[in-house]
Amino acid sequence: MSNYNLFLLWCTRHTRSFSNRGFCTNSSSKNPPPPKLLDFTKIEISRLPTVIILGRPNVGKSALFNRLIRRREALVYNTPDDHVTRDIREGVAKLGHLRFRVLDSAGLEAEATSGSILHRTASFTANVLSNSHSLLFLTDGRAGLHPLDQEVGKWLRRNAPQIKPILVMNKSESLFDADDSLASAANEMSRLGFGDPIAISAETGLGMHDLFLSLKPVLEDYML
Ligand code: GDP
Repeated sequence: MSNYNLFLLWCTRHTRSFSNRGFCTNSSSKNPPPPKLLDFTKIEISRLPTVIILGRPNVGKSALFNRLIRRREALVYNTPDDHVTRDIREGVAKLGHLRFRVLDSAGLEAEATSGSILHRTASFTANVLSNSHSLLFLTDGRAGLHPLDQEVGKWLRRNAPQIKPILVMNKSESLFDADDSLASAANEMSRLGFGDPIAISAETGLGMHDLFLSLKPVLEDYML
């Protein structure tokens, strides 16, 4: 048998095909097709996962909520009988192909007249957290680590151990300009013990892709 025929025989035994350019090609070694994206647009709103934005006042929770829901309408729960209530805004967020229900806790803080941040956070999160699938723990990268961030962190660890918060460092746009300031702010924030923060700017949209990458596995896992 000629070398060429031996080569063809080897190809048919060891690979699936023989290309017309004379190279053995193994279709199994070709790049696999990209995995199909879960189509969140086909999922009823009531079945979408819920993501809650938490953090001390003024870190930019409402700003992030507004960016995530864009111009879509937000629902405000304020019926006295509803125990998830007071003033919590809920909207449908869009981030890349992800869709989820997002809850903004900022209104409750504005309504609170007394009590520590822990008390205010506790009074509503206990009800809402059990129905949330992910949690964005928002901090302010410009202001740096604040004692109230530590308190929120401790509270979450104690009261919501079932949720692994995604630590987010908002107002980071100016940190990208100065040498090392982003790294040192992130380093400081990681002392909260929830891993490295995702640097974003709710105002400019910076870091939204990183936020998408962090939420994607959690939300897709929930839906599958
Ligand atoms: P919340 O109390 O956590 O809901 O905070 P807000 O969303 O009300 O924001 C508090 C302040 O921070 C407001 O003056 C916002 O304009 C400002 N802010 C929010 N996000 C950003 C940001 O990404 N960059 C900067 N520089 N300011 C921001």
